[in-house]
Amino acid sequence: MNRKDQKTGNAGDVAFSDALGRPMQDLRISLLDRCNFRCPYCMPEAQYSEDYQFLSKSARLSHDEIFRVASVAVGLGVTKLRVTGGEPLLDRNVASLVGRLASLQGVDDLALTTNGMLLSLFAQRLADAGLKRVTVSLDSLDKDIFSAMSGNRGDIARVLSGIEAAEKAGLSPIKVNVVVQRGVNDHTILDILDYFRGTSHIVRFIEFMDVGSRNGWSMDQVVPSREVLATIHARWPVRAVGRNYPGEVARRYQFLDGQGELGFISSVTEPFCGSCSRARISADGTLYTCLFATEGINLREPLRSGAGDDEIAEILKAVWLKREDRYSEIRRPETVEKPLVNKVEMYRMGG
Ligand code: SAM
Ligand code: SF4
Ligand code: SF4
Repeated sequence: MNRKDQKTGNAGDVAFSDALGRPMQDLRISLLDRCNFRCPYCMPEAQYSEDYQFLSKSARLSHDEIFRVASVAVGLGVTKLRVTGGEPLLDRNVASLVGRLASLQGVDDLALTTNGMLLSLFAQRLADAGLKRVTVSLDSLDKDIFSAMSGNRGDIARVLSGIEAAEKAGLSPIKVNVVVQRGVNDHTILDILDYFRGTSHIVRFIEFMDVGSRNGWSMDQVVPSREVLATIHARWPVRAVGRNYPGEVARRYQFLDGQGELGFISSVTEPFCGSCSRARISADGTLYTCLFATEGINLREPLRSGAGDDEIAEILKAVWLKREDRYSEIRRPETVEKPLVNKVEMYRMGG
């Protein structure tokens, strides 16, 4: 029997929603807080030098603990799992965890987000383990811009061969995430689209977000998606297409000449909190209900002090039932000009 067909556990059948009527549908799992890149918009080099103290192995959830949380969440109705980080492929046993997550009955989407540097080494193993698809972050095809946007750590050729390896392994459709920053890579968006047009890969332009408090975010660095769309439309006309599923964050478009699909994630200028069904668990086992959270709920402590699955389920459910997060909808210039100093960083929480 194919690994993908051997499902274990109980599929979620407990329908419940948060205080704003949103179900808990997705769980994003940050495997580790370390990264081999230092993208300035996420983990600026100056603040994350070689001697920065990342979580120790014992502070991070083990794969057994991650699997328990995921299986409880799936029992509560979560159907989509995403493994992320930090850089998830820095965990050399990532494929074995993916295999366990793939075995959970009720999971209809299992994906992983990576910067792609190590993807050619892992793609086939991940696919064999039951991963369905990958998202690869690649901000520009211009060598110097890409290098700068990875904190001088990235190698475009390696990322592109990682994407090829993922395609060969059947991890499609591959989504290519491009964070657009004004004055940094916004003049290279047509080049990256030109490269991927005509393939099954879907380029998605993401507005630079005010996540965390270390990336020097300001509104003038955000290129609104409508502006990117206008530039693209002038070169290759596109038309909007509907969502694949309720709660999908990207707005989808197709090239009118049949050369494929692209998308926009416009958290800053067109917030989508109304349909946000995502919970996140950080590498140290903290549960967050919003990307812009300042605090979360410690699951590691109950996991390590003998709590049963039913008790973990109660915690998840109680937190979700009270959830009122809608940061992007209530974001105001005065709150973003002076970002809260304790907003949790994205690489910790899991992007
Ligand atoms: N290291 C992996 C990667 O880069 O794909 C996974 C983790 S990373 C935090 C997940 C996603 O968050 C990436 O696509 C990255 O570009 C995006 N991201 C990080 N900081 C961001 C920011 N300030 N605004 C928008 N997107 C951001
Ligand atoms: Fe690392 Fe991803 Fe953050 Fe870049 S965006 S520093 S690759 S975690
Ligand atoms: Fe979801 Fe929070 Fe983002 Fe709104 S701001 S879409 S609630 S993660």
